[in-house]
Amino acid sequence: MRQPESIIDKFLDIEDPWSLSETERKDLLTGSIIEAAEHHYKNNTVWRKLCDVKNFKPSDINSYDDLNRIPVISTRAFKGGFDLLSVPKEDIVKVHMSSGTSGNRSRVPRDRITLERARKSILKSNAKFRKGDAGYLGMMSPSPEEISDLTIANYAKISLEDYKSYDFFLKLDGGFDPEKVVEKLNSVTDRPVNLGGAPMLILALADYVMKTGNKILTMDENSAVTSGGGFKSAKGDVVDRETFNQIVMKAFNVKEENVRDTYSMSELNGVFNECEHHMKHIPPFFYISIRNPSNLDEEVPLGEEGLPVFIDPLAHSYPGFIIADDIVSIKTGPFEECACGIVGPTFAPKVRRAEGAEEKGCGRHVDELSEQLSN
Ligand SMILES: [Zn+2]
Repeated sequence: MRQPESIIDKFLDIEDPWSLSETERKDLLTGSIIEAAEHHYKNNTVWRKLCDVKNFKPSDINSYDDLNRIPVISTRAFKGGFDLLSVPKEDIVKVHMSSGTSGNRSRVPRDRITLERARKSILKSNAKFRKGDAGYLGMMSPSPEEISDLTIANYAKISLEDYKSYDFFLKLDGGFDPEKVVEKLNSVTDRPVNLGGAPMLILALADYVMKTGNKILTMDENSAVTSGGGFKSAKGDVVDRETFNQIVMKAFNVKEENVRDTYSMSELNGVFNECEHHMKHIPPFFYISIRNPSNLDEEVPLGEEGLPVFIDPLAHSYPGFIIADDIVSIKTGPFEECACGIVGPTFAPKVRRAEGAEEKGCGRHVDELSEQLSN
């Protein structure tokens, strides 16, 4: 049976949702989130119980200003132990996993509706923040076929729909061979030639190019290098973003404005792409609020660091009302204009994992959730 089209689906079909007026945007986002809240309240026992504890009902949302009252679930609750389904089990097409060590991975169940919405939102955000043609993409990561359970691979696969051609250069059995990568990139005929993937592998390629002088001759001023997945190696070393930009610019001869990073999480049905000023833009379909790590119900003033709450009305098979354990700060408010000219919330390149006291805040949230649900 085909469901009547919901507000979020109409929202996703708007050609350029970034160009909507503040009122239009508020109305569409609030309407989408009310519909999502009603759906999850009706169909998700875990979230409804949380709402009851917090004395909240979807009918309490009367305007955009009420959205920060929605009870949120920690990303840690997706790591197991909670049944977060809002649809029958048989509707689930794919369970997406976050990367990381086993036992510490989020498992996010997606039905057909959620997958199609994620696809639309990712393609829309990529098109908005890409300059010109997509051309060719050389990915420094395993192919989505090899790691089909990982969210990041599935999102990469969606992004490929726009490109004329592409390759994946990390083989799960044969490792990573920079010499072969350069050889292949130098034989590509589609333009521009772009690179993407994990920051550490992009750096490994840059290191090879600098040490050997074996250059990628097909990259030009239209080429972009787009990283994703975080600036941390398997050993835990953090790469400073400015250093990363400088190395990448020098090794691949790309402009700094074309060195872009992308933020996403397994629980989010979209990607937050950077503009040429390295601000991560949150697409208009998501609501963001930054919380005080020691009191998660309290919003911090604009510009201050805290834990991000994302209200994602695209999620149909699970409640997309999430608090993440990254520390971010908002640079431009929900209806402010970024230096790039695009209106909407952005956060800065500096995104770090919560630690110490902040980290305790995240853990406490899940403990509270367990306690409330067992009562
Ligand atoms: Zn911008």
